Amino acid sequence: MSHPNGLPENKFTDLLMQVIEFRDQQITPHVVEWEKTRTFPANAIAAASELGLLGMEISPELGGLGMTFAQKLKVLDVLSEVSMPYAFSLVNSHNVAARLARHGTEDQKDRFLEDLLNGKKLGSSALTEPGAGSDFSSITTQATPEKDNWRLNGEKAWITNAASSTVIVAYVQTEPGARARGIASFLIDGTKAGFERLAPYDLIGSHAIGTGGFRLNNYLASNADLLAPAGEGFSAALATINEARTYVASMCCAMVEASLRTAIDYASERESFGRPTIEHQGLSWQLARVANQLEAARALTTNAITVIQGGDNEAAILPAAHAKKFATEFVEPALIACTQAMGANGLKEEFLLGHRLTAARVANYVDGSTEIMTDRIAKSLRSTYT
Ligand SMILES: Cc1cc2nc3c(=O)[nH]c(=O)nc-3n(C[C@H](O)[C@H](O)[C@H](O)COP(=O)(O)OP(=O)(O)OC[C@H]3O[C@@H](n4cnc5c(N)ncnc54)[C@H](O)[C@@H]3O)c2cc1C
Repeated sequence: MSHPNGLPENKFTDLLMQVIEFRDQQITPHVVEWEKTRTFPANAIAAASELGLLGMEISPELGGLGMTFAQKLKVLDVLSEVSMPYAFSLVNSHNVAARLARHGTEDQKDRFLEDLLNGKKLGSSALTEPGAGSDFSSITTQATPEKDNWRLNGEKAWITNAASSTVIVAYVQTEPGARARGIASFLIDGTKAGFERLAPYDLIGSHAIGTGGFRLNNYLASNADLLAPAGEGFSAALATINEARTYVASMCCAMVEASLRTAIDYASERESFGRPTIEHQGLSWQLARVANQLEAARALTTNAITVIQGGDNEAAILPAAHAKKFATEFVEPALIACTQAMGANGLKEEFLLGHRLTAARVANYVDGSTEIMTDRIAKSLRSTYT
């Protein structure tokens, strides 16, 4: 999907400045309030369409901005500095539009693409179920053929944007027991009969992700709603997983970088024992460690971006796993070190460090848990290092 040239450098720089302005005016002032009121900010996500952010990687011919993958990640970084949940929600809706733009039929694009790009509708990708997470092949939501239609029954859980999304790429099993071989995907319309939205979860620090679930009760899908037929759904779901793992790693880096800047500013002003606290070696070494690990996480993430932009998905599996594993393992201790360097003041909500910490926790699960990244690397040991 990535566009080899993307936006010209000067246009991209201008857009990034506009994104910073948008963030500072429409997101930053509300992050704490969204959490306090447990609000899923669907309107603020729709507002990002004014800058085209719901179609970042989509071709201009289809109404998108035609960015490279690297450019998209820079935008997500800017948003993640103040709210990774917001950025995560936005990119998940973007991904559904991108999937339709790339693989959807003309009819599917006509029905949903424009509304996804202008934020009138939000998108979700639904793999996880109450009984199946890491082991995606074990999903049991069932699709049963019926003349030219399919009956869909089952429950999805832990779905980003499920609080209000209405365009949902849902993965289903067509042949019980067949695991990956039987998995297909359908485009679900969340306004139709048979779709039952469940109450979103109360996740501390992550209400802006709008995570929840839904039930399909005899939902009638037609062949025109089929996105990937049986046997192709599994690989279709994995086709963009390296990209997702890499942007999660990048978001972690962005959260740490923003926190490091805040901690350094604070420790340069705050004095103890007659000098700025940053001049105490015990404190500056803590932050130096954060900076050192941030550079390493950035380098791994940049490597994954380069391989992904090269277009070889198979070759991107390990770089993406290394980037996500390292980033999700360093992000929490790094954020805690930044908080600690600010003394008790670091705990105040206005600095957003606590918000970033809860988002960092989420990063350890989404798009493949840290253990699944480790397992991926472990399975490659003998072929990589012999
Ligand atoms: C905020 C949020 C948003 C999400 N958004 C989406 C979404 O939009 N769409 C979607 O489909 N899903 C989404 N998910 C679900 C996410 O993909 C799953 O949480 C993830 O796949 C892990 O599944 P699980 O939570 O069921 O854990 P399980 O698979 O039950 O695993 C439990 C624990 O065991 C570990 N484990 C499992 N298998 C192994 C193994 N082989 N080796 C070692 N350890 C293992 C796991 O790492 C984990 O620590 C979201 C989750 C969160 C928290």
